[in-house]
Amino acid sequence: MSRLAGKVALVTGGSRGIGAAIARRLAEDGADVALTYVSSPAKADAVVAEIKALGRKGLALAADSADAAAVVSAVERTVEVFGRIDIIVNNAGIFIGGSLDNDTLEDIDRTLAVNVRAVYVGSQAAARHMGKGGRIISIGSCLAELVGDPGITLYSLSKAALVGLTKGMARDLGPRGITVNIVHPGPTDTDMNPAEGAHADQQRSRLPLGHYGKATDIAAAVAYLAGEDAGFVTGAALAVDGGFAA
Ligand code: NDP
Repeated sequence: MSRLAGKVALVTGGSRGIGAAIARRLAEDGADVALTYVSSPAKADAVVAEIKALGRKGLALAADSADAAAVVSAVERTVEVFGRIDIIVNNAGIFIGGSLDNDTLEDIDRTLAVNVRAVYVGSQAAARHMGKGGRIISIGSCLAELVGDPGITLYSLSKAALVGLTKGMARDLGPRGITVNIVHPGPTDTDMNPAEGAHADQQRSRLPLGHYGKATDIAAAVAYLAGEDAGFVTGAALAVDGGFAA
C-alpha cells in the first residue's frame, strides 16, 4: 500500500517549481492533493492533471498568500472537497530583491504577508481539522541559517521567522500528535532561482556539492516528513541545501 494512501494534502504555491514537485511526489506516494496558485492557472491545472493521472484526486485553488483570508479559504475548501486535511505544506514564497537601503515598507509588508503570515494562518486553519498524525511542513531557506551575502536581509528575515514559528507550533500541537517541521532548501533550479541565472555561479561557489538542487530533492524531504517514518520528528529543521549552510 502507498505510504500516504488515504491522506489529504494541501500545498501552497503548487503550480510551479518546488511546490509542483512536492504536489506530484505526495500524489505518487498516495495522497490526494490540493494546491494553490496566484498567477498561473494553466500550470496549476497541468499539475492537477498529473495528480489525476496517478489515480489520485487533485484540486487547484486560486489563493494569493498575501491575502490571509484567501489562505484560510483554501484550507476550508480542501476540507469541504476532500473531507479532511492531514498535511499542509507551506511552500508559496516570494523573493523581492533589494537592499537594506532601498527596501520599501510595501516590500517588507508583502514579503512578511506571503512568506510568514500566510504560513501562520494556513497552519492555524489546517491544524483545527487535523488529528493525530497531522503534518505541518514549511519551506524555509538555507538563508535562514546563513545569510552569507549583503542584500538579502528581508528574505532572510522572513525565512528565519519560520524557524520560530515551527518550533512554537511543534510545542503547541505536539500534545495532539501533530508534527511541525521546516525544510531549508539550498539553491534549487526553479523560475525563482534558475541554475543558469545571473547569480547562479556565485551561489554554486558556496556549495560543497558544487551544483544546484532539483525541486524533486526538496520534495523527497517533504515526503519523508509527511510519512509515518517521521512520526518522532517535530520542531526540526532539515537542510536540503547541498551544504550551503555547513
Ligand atoms: P517559484 O517562484 O519558482 O514558484 C513559486 C510558486 O509559488 C508558484 O507556484 C507560484 O504560483 C506560487 N506563489 C508565488 N507567490 C504566491 C502568492 N502570493 N500566493 C500563492 N502562491 C504564490 O519558487 P520556488 O519553487 O523556487 O520556491 C518555492 C519555495 O521555496 C519558496 O518559499 C522559496 O522561498 C523557497 N526556496 C527556494 C529556493 C530556490 O533556490 N529556488 C531556495 C530556498 C528556498 P504562480 O505559478 O501562480 O505564480
